[in-house]
Amino acid sequence: MIKDNFGRPLNSLRIQLNATCNFKCFFCHMEGTEENTKTMSLEEIEKVIKAASQLGVKRIKFTGGEPLLRRDILEIIKVTRKYIDGDISLTTNGYFLEGMAVKLKEAGLNRVNISLHAMTPESFKTITGIGSLNIVKEGAKAAVRAGLNPVKLNMVILKGINDGQIFQLLDFAREIGAMVQFIELESPREKEKEEWFRRFHVSLDFIEDLLKPYLKGIEYNPLHKRRILILDYNGSELKVEIVNPHRNHDFCMNCTRLRITSTGSVQTCIHRPDQRISIDYNNTSESLIVATKMREPYW
Ligand code: SAM
Repeated sequence: MIKDNFGRPLNSLRIQLNATCNFKCFFCHMEGTEENTKTMSLEEIEKVIKAASQLGVKRIKFTGGEPLLRRDILEIIKVTRKYIDGDISLTTNGYFLEGMAVKLKEAGLNRVNISLHAMTPESFKTITGIGSLNIVKEGAKAAVRAGLNPVKLNMVILKGINDGQIFQLLDFAREIGAMVQFIELESPREKEKEEWFRRFHVSLDFIEDLLKPYLKGIEYNPLHKRRILILDYNGSELKVEIVNPHRNHDFCMNCTRLRITSTGSVQTCIHRPDQRISIDYNNTSESLIVATKMREPYW
């Protein structure tokens, strides 16, 4: 296992499989990258995962763009399973999930995060640019049926758009047997003063206040030490993860991952595109080690 200069081990990779998406969420951070049609090949992805596993990486998260737009997504998961015994997960907009959930599970995927940023068709379209709320909801149900576990429903909270839909999302999660992840709107520090960010950003504290009457326990996701609220919600146990990276020292000190961009670079942090190095596929381990040693908390 390797550690960065702040004592943080490297134990997971967040791999951006493409930088194109069929949704157009107006707030999308693009994983700290720019829109691009270049992608890594299956062979290049395999080299990265093999090297990472030899360095002690136990968890792989695939993201995008939209990872399910990759025609070789099942091969990518299968090849990942050759090297990773632990957690393989994927974040998706859910649009293609209904027909793919079983195949993804069979390929070796453990779990899935589904972006479900609104619970009314109008606000869903305002956020994503696409009127496909029901397609995504069906995708979420199919993921639960396929045995992907847990299925996390991700909602980025946007003031004045979806901050009044907290309980609608909880109701849906309870109904289908999923869990919920509320995410605070993120932006690099230098953009936090911009009008759009100030207009839509809201701290997640109000959600924790809303959920207090249902609270029966708290767990932690070791990644970023994110709080997971265990709720007794209308007779069912429901888990709600809170992701608030803003000025959060615990978040940074418990960050144990590197990011791989769709163009084949290693990036140390979503907010540090200036700390991005091209992968040398002839010495992939070295590229991962160099990037690990560059990591520093972002606060
Ligand atoms: N297309 C997939 C999706 O929609 O989930 C994967 C890519 S998306 C960039 C990955 C995750 O980042 C999603 O859960 C999305 O909601 C979240 N996200 C995007 N922009 C964000 C922002 N500005 N702040 C916080 N989370 C954001």
